[in-house]
Order: sequence, then structure tokens, then C-alpha cells
Amino acid sequence: MRDFSADHRWLSINTATLRGAGPLDAIIDACVRHDIRAISPWRDQVAGIGLARATQLVRSNSLELSGYCRGGMFPAIDAGGRQAALDDNRRAVDEAKTLDAACLVLVVGGLPGALAGPAQSKDLFAARNDVRDGIAATLEYARAAGMPLAIEPLHPMYAADRACVNTLEQALDLCDVLDPARTGALGVAVDVYHVWWDPKLEAQIARAGRQRLLAFHVCDWLVPTRDMLNDRGMMGDGVIELGRIRRWVESTGFGGYSEVEIFSSENWWKRPADEVLATCIERHRSAV
Ligand code: ZN
Repeated sequence: MRDFSADHRWLSINTATLRGAGPLDAIIDACVRHDIRAISPWRDQVAGIGLARATQLVRSNSLELSGYCRGGMFPAIDAGGRQAALDDNRRAVDEAKTLDAACLVLVVGGLPGALAGPAQSKDLFAARNDVRDGIAATLEYARAAGMPLAIEPLHPMYAADRACVNTLEQALDLCDVLDPARTGALGVAVDVYHVWWDPKLEAQIARAGRQRLLAFHVCDWLVPTRDMLNDRGMMGDGVIELGRIRRWVESTGFGGYSEVEIFSSENWWKRPADEVLATCIERHRSAV
């Protein structure tokens, strides 16, 4: 396993970690001040300053993108809704390509309508079919564009509203169906927050292997967790054995970034960017 204790060469900052720090240009400035070499921005943050400006800032600061967040949200109640999702995913692929991201992360979606309001259906099986078909259609487009798609399984507590793919095994089963030749065009994002509890995690990480393990996201699971979405912990502040999981990940040959992704409306988003980043760097060295 790589030694992270001496530097933060392999630290990437998912820009959601700095949601409290203003627009993306301010976030990039802060990352550059701290010698951070990679980021993973969200589409709304890119749109906030414009894709052209975001691309220019990424290039002029020689930043790499460990990923781009996010595509997905495929399930819909009717054909029009499913088509709108496919159109949006194509735009996401195009943006990821313009920014030269390593992959487009897919948060696949849950029950139709559930994220915005009441669910329009309770049929989780239909939602999973929409996800399979949506990824299949997007994969054709992404493959032609040369943009790998990374399915991110989400913790089961998000099955209704954000993602009905909830384990690494389930994500890899989709990869087997949709990209049986393991071409590298489709893989997974392993986010410790979503998968740390899974008794099959070690075996499924090994199953993913180098070709399918496209991204590695870190934070920590706080006890107690006060909010289902926005109470993620800083690495080292919770109960996830990060070193053990990273060892499994790197056993596959993964040598990419360790991407810090912390949603924390009541703690880290309230702190200055410099403090958040200094802490990310220190914990990257000592706790990841
Ligand atoms: Zn993640």
C-alpha cells in the first residue's frame, strides 16, 4: 500500500467538501494554495461559473479531475422522463470530456420523483430496470466519447430517493451485464461512506479489479449520525477502518487519487476553506 504519511500527492478534493466556501473559482484558488493536485467538481458548481471558465481554471492550474459529479438519476415515470434523463447524461458526459475528467460518476437514481417530492411509484424493481437501460444507453455515448462511467453504489438508506444500486456487488453485476468484456468503459466508484458496512466488501473490491475500480472516495461515518445526507465525518473522526479498505483497494492495483468527499452542513461547511483543507491534508496523511 502506498505511504501517504509524507505528502498529499494522491489527495483529491471533491468540491462538495467546500460547499460553504463560495463559488468554484474560490474553491479552486483554495485548493491551489494548499498544493492540491486534483479535484472532483459537481455540475452545479461548474455551471455556477460557466464550463469555459471552469475548464480554463483547471488547465491553467494543471489540476487533474479524479472524477466529475454527477450523472445518473435514470428512473422516470414515463418515456419522456427517461429520455430527459438520457439527454442530461449526455450533457454530463460532454462536460466531463471538456474538463478531461477521469470518469463520470453515476448516482443512478431511486424511485421516480422521490428526490424532488412524493415518489410517483413504489416499484423499485422498475426503477432498477430503468437504471440498467439508462446506463446501457449512456454507455454507448460515453464509450464513443472516451469517458468512463463509474457507478457509485449508495448506502441503502438512499434507495428510495437517490440510488437503487446499494452494494458494490449489485453495481458489479450491472457492469458484468453491460460491459462483459471489461473494456474499462464502465466501472465503479467505491465510496467508503456507502459501502464500509458491507460484509462482502473485500471480495467485491477484489472482483472489481483494476479495470473496474475507477474512483475511491473517503470520509468517515460518525456515531451518532445526525442527518442522513449532510453529516459525513472527516477521516479519523468516525468508525470506518479507512486503512483496511484502502489496502483492499490498492491490492487491485489501483494507484489513483483518494478523493475526500464530505457533506457536512453543520460542521465543515461552516468552517473556512483553509481550515477544511489543512485538516483534509493532515488526515489524508494520518488516517487514510
Ligand atoms: Zn462519493
